[in-house]
Amino acid sequence: MDNKNISDIINHSFENSEAYFGAATPPLIQSSNFVYPTIREMRHALVHEDEVPFYTRGTNPTTRILEEKMAALEGTEKALFFASGSAAVSAGILSVVQQGDHIVSVSKPYSWTAKLLKEYLPKFGVEASLIDGRYVENFEQAIKPNTRLIFLESPNSWTFEQQDLEAVAKLAKSKGILTMIDNSYASPLLQHPAKYGIDLIGHSATKYLSGHGDALGGVLCGSAELIKRVFKNEYMTLGAAASPFNAWQILSGLRTLPMRIKQAGETASYLVDFLKNHEAVAEVFFPYDPDNSQYDLSTRQMSAPAGQFSITLKTESEREIEAFANALDRFRLGCSWGGFESLAFPALTLYDSQNYASTVFPKNMIRFYAGLDDKELLREELENALRFK
Ligand SMILES: *Cc1c(COP(=O)(O)O)cnc(C)c1O
Repeated sequence: MDNKNISDIINHSFENSEAYFGAATPPLIQSSNFVYPTIREMRHALVHEDEVPFYTRGTNPTTRILEEKMAALEGTEKALFFASGSAAVSAGILSVVQQGDHIVSVSKPYSWTAKLLKEYLPKFGVEASLIDGRYVENFEQAIKPNTRLIFLESPNSWTFEQQDLEAVAKLAKSKGILTMIDNSYASPLLQHPAKYGIDLIGHSATKYLSGHGDALGGVLCGSAELIKRVFKNEYMTLGAAASPFNAWQILSGLRTLPMRIKQAGETASYLVDFLKNHEAVAEVFFPYDPDNSQYDLSTRQMSAPAGQFSITLKTESEREIEAFANALDRFRLGCSWGGFESLAFPALTLYDSQNYASTVFPKNMIRFYAGLDDKELLREELENALRFK
């Protein structure tokens, strides 16, 4: 999709100021339900509750604007907005599988996706094989007669490993298997999985789409057929629909996504160039680093870099890792990413919680997100913190 299309979708499409008293910004319709002058109109609304407002757990006019923009940006027919990214991802996965089915997934998806695949779904007789998704052969080998879904996250969190979306989609189609991707890292601007034939595309809207660190949300995009199935099953029964207020906030965030992600990607590239030559840094992880083993795939599948990267420090000492992390200031210590705030997430912090017991990242790894801070200030801060010895 070219930038002109993206610009029109983000700034104009699916909005109608005349219908909102000329308001430039669409109204927040914070209503749980909708009322009708006649029984005939109410009957009609109920039959079409996935399309017209009847009850906000199903359809809400403010939320609908965001859903239509997201479907258009991803190049799919439909999208649904959820209360969180995890709700969108789990609903997408649950909509495809049933008892006795098998999933092939990348080995290091987002932590709570891993929990769903490894611990939650087996309770219902659904098994998953987690494989190194960098090599298409691994998908081929892991597929079983009862495989219904291939789950991708490209690039993934922390180490930013990628999958060849075109090759995996082709393999899946040849075997009648559905594919789903968590596309949060790239946002709908930098990577378009539907173009390669990926069936379901999930996002944590909490990250880039919201962009201001103040709203949770999730989006699931796909064909009208697949999304209709999600609507009448997981969406309505599990009930993880978001508040219209969150949709309205995220709609606001979406307006500035192109410039925010551009700046985050440029700052991240700049900081990675600095870090990869620093003597206290063992390794950097950044898909758009020309020395990354998947750099060719990055530039083929993604149109530009985004703001996340990781490093490992050249030390095993917890005291030194702590000294480094505690010396950070503008990079605030915390989870999440995609907002204005620059963040550092030391893997060391994962080791204390039972919920992350299967943590696969080394203690000396730190994941960064370059927010909207000035890049020189961030570099100076890293330079200072790297004197941890
Ligand atoms: C944050 C995140 C999620 C979960 O999204 P929430 O909005 O926090 O529920 C899923 N996938 C990735 C890659 C994430 O970073």
